Amino acid sequence: MSGGAKGLRGHILISHTHWDHIQGIPFFAPLFVPGNEWDIYGPKGLGQSLREALAGQMQYTYFPVPLDQCGAKIRYHDLVEGTFDIDDIKVSTHYLNHPALTLGYRLEADGVAVVYACDHEPYSRSAATGDGEITGQDLRHAEFLSGADLLIHDAQYTAEEYPAKVGWGHSSVEYVVNLGRFAQVKKIALTHHDPLRDDDAIDRMVANIQAKLRENKSFLDVVAAVEGQVVEVVPSPAKDSAHRAREFQAEMPIEPALAERSVLLGIADTKLVAALSEAIRAEGVDTKFFSNMDEARTLIAKDRLSLAILEHDPPRTDGMEMCRAIREQENDREHQLPVIMVAAQENQAAGASAGVTDWLIKPFTDACARTKIRAWALRAACKWMRGVIPEDEELARPPVHVRRAPMAQKGIENRRFSENVISTDKSALLWMYCREIAPFETPAFSKKVGNLIARATKRPSEMRNRAAAN
Ligand SMILES: [Zn+2]
Ligand SMILES: [Zn+2]
Repeated sequence: MSGGAKGLRGHILISHTHWDHIQGIPFFAPLFVPGNEWDIYGPKGLGQSLREALAGQMQYTYFPVPLDQCGAKIRYHDLVEGTFDIDDIKVSTHYLNHPALTLGYRLEADGVAVVYACDHEPYSRSAATGDGEITGQDLRHAEFLSGADLLIHDAQYTAEEYPAKVGWGHSSVEYVVNLGRFAQVKKIALTHHDPLRDDDAIDRMVANIQAKLRENKSFLDVVAAVEGQVVEVVPSPAKDSAHRAREFQAEMPIEPALAERSVLLGIADTKLVAALSEAIRAEGVDTKFFSNMDEARTLIAKDRLSLAILEHDPPRTDGMEMCRAIREQENDREHQLPVIMVAAQENQAAGASAGVTDWLIKPFTDACARTKIRAWALRAACKWMRGVIPEDEELARPPVHVRRAPMAQKGIENRRFSENVISTDKSALLWMYCREIAPFETPAFSKKVGNLIARATKRPSEMRNRAAAN
């Protein structure tokens, strides 16, 4: 965030649009100040755009001022997995494991790497203990954190609490510390603390972790993140980020690649078929069924598939066998098609040898299934786009952040900026709402809200006159 003669200019990276991560946005004063400019980044869903998701919580029923009438100029960036630049900061994104499409962010600048990974749950249930081997998608996650100077990571639960919270989308402290050691992270700031754990309990937990790390002669530093905390990150030896040039750009119109794609479903259990078909339909993707492997092979050969979801429930149905047959396909030698295995329990070793990409462990929630389907469908679309773009062209493409209003939103943006004044009758509503959500009214709070409303409801001409008078 930087100030200047032309007003405040800043960037906001949002991991996902669950309420605990976006509820502060309507009360973030710099968004209401004309002349300020903000870029907001977040994961691209299959249906709603980031702007639509953020605007949803500011609809008339919930908030007096719609998002489009905030005073500042706001640009929205819908991201997929990939890379982009914010000035001289290189940003990489990676999907996390959460019952909503969620992105982790890796920021690299001046020889320093900082990773933010919230909210995230271990992919493998055994990894949550902190002792399990890091394999499969947990290994991909560890690669994303690799060598970070500071890792800010979800650590809501303890390993002991975790079994009662499976599928809720959060990590155990033990998993995070194990990951940090494995990925050679320098410092971890544990965050997304459980609301039921008080400060003293968190302090005791961190002291225990630090004592164990000292016992094991580990150099890993672990702290609990505190509101308002400032952490200075010291550069460590130069990190190789040359691979980024070949990576996919995180902000790309991937709809053409998503269209006409489908999901191959190899499930015997009728209840599972119903639940997964509904989840796939809700994500706007077609489902293809098959009754024998010959049919599956034909579908794989002629259809453009996003992913396959198979069930492993022996002796009734052998998903591993189906997966091996898919991997033997002529056009799938390099595991191009992601395969999600639905099972009562995972078997990482057998899965890896059969070519399983990811697991969906029964019982699962509709939200978990939808998010997995969405993430893999988007990954497949990115992969397909990467395939059709010549490599030299991909390398030569300019950084993403320089793109201003995306084509599709141009008309909306122009209209918004010409009407970026909130009418005065909304100021009373805004005042009432601020008091409503903050019953702890103090003189400082009143003054702050008063100033915010005064600025938000000033017309640009009044602002200019006032600036001239000063
Ligand atoms: Zn969440
Ligand atoms: Zn959260």
